[in-house]
Amino acid sequence: MKDLQIEDFKDTDAYQAMVLLVDDQAMIGEAIRRSLAQDLNIDFHFCADPHQAITMAMRIKPTVILQDLVMPGLDGLSLVRDYRQHPATQDIPIIVLSTKEDPAIKSAAFAAGANDYLVKLPDTLELVARIRYHSRSYLTLQQRDEAYRALRVSQQQLLETNLVLQRLMNSDGLTGLSNRRHFDEYLEMEWRRAMRDKSQLSLLMVDVDYFKAYNDTFGHLDGDESLRKVAQAIRQSSSRATDLAARYGGEEFALVLPGTSPGGARLVAEKLRQMVLGLTIPHTTPEPGSSITVSVGVATCSPEQGSDCRVLISAADKGLYMAKHAGRNRVVVGEVEPEQE
Ligand code: GH3
Ligand code: MG
Ligand code: MG
Repeated sequence: MKDLQIEDFKDTDAYQAMVLLVDDQAMIGEAIRRSLAQDLNIDFHFCADPHQAITMAMRIKPTVILQDLVMPGLDGLSLVRDYRQHPATQDIPIIVLSTKEDPAIKSAAFAAGANDYLVKLPDTLELVARIRYHSRSYLTLQQRDEAYRALRVSQQQLLETNLVLQRLMNSDGLTGLSNRRHFDEYLEMEWRRAMRDKSQLSLLMVDVDYFKAYNDTFGHLDGDESLRKVAQAIRQSSSRATDLAARYGGEEFALVLPGTSPGGARLVAEKLRQMVLGLTIPHTTPEPGSSITVSVGVATCSPEQGSDCRVLISAADKGLYMAKHAGRNRVVVGEVEPEQE
């Protein structure tokens, strides 16, 4: 009859329980072992020496501890407190086994950190039911903690992946500089900032000279390689964290210089031009023995309320156009025209 009732429990609960009984009396150990022996889902370990209890718990990892209260040499309640202090046992459910039903002992046991209270020797049915109940809630708690941990790890990975994606989305595949989309966003943002702060914003437009001829002479692969080197020089020609070098399109580049005066922008432009020249990438145009050069248009503006950053781009473009017409490999400042109403 009894067996049948235990079987009924089994159907509703397939959790594996690991029981650690800590009791100085071998007889109690044997009695409880026999009670639990019929249940295949309950593993049982017995510890007769309370001083070994925590070490043994760390080894067998119980899902529930059955703890005797009266043992020679060590008070059961203080052992319960020890379990609660120790990181390896602090969450393990503890069922206290007492010799009698005593409200004072019961209250002290719960205060020490016990989860349940049974009088020795407990009825098998009740013992099994409680072991199952506590094991299940302990395992559920462990699984939840593990799930949270895994969630935190994957959230962190997602964050890192997003950063990588963001970087990829903003950069130009060939040169690694910012791409046109990011340039547009950045210039717009800095334009509005300069408007608020009443500061100056400078822009350099850079175009490689005679680059069609370079491709025609050396081929597109060498052309690509040279564009990479020019891009690198452009990146290195300015140093502030807020400066942004971008590939504007084809063999044209742009450099956004927030908080930079006309004089400062001209200096950066001249440094950039010389750095590209310093690469000494051989070219045959305009004449044999030439090197790759760039022309640079410079513009600076203190944006007015409601104005559009396109005025800055057209001014730098105008400078670039003049630089080309004046013979290339030079820096020319383009005047910012007041916006048409
Ligand atoms: P200018 O001195 O007036 O600027 O003459 P240019 O030949 O540089 O100007 P043009 O606009 O006529 O030609 C630009 C060339 O740049 C055309 C194109 O083949 C080359 N180009 C644009 N993008 C790339 C690229 O990604 N890779 C390579 N290899 N070449 C490119
Ligand atoms: Mg060109
Ligand atoms: Mg061009």
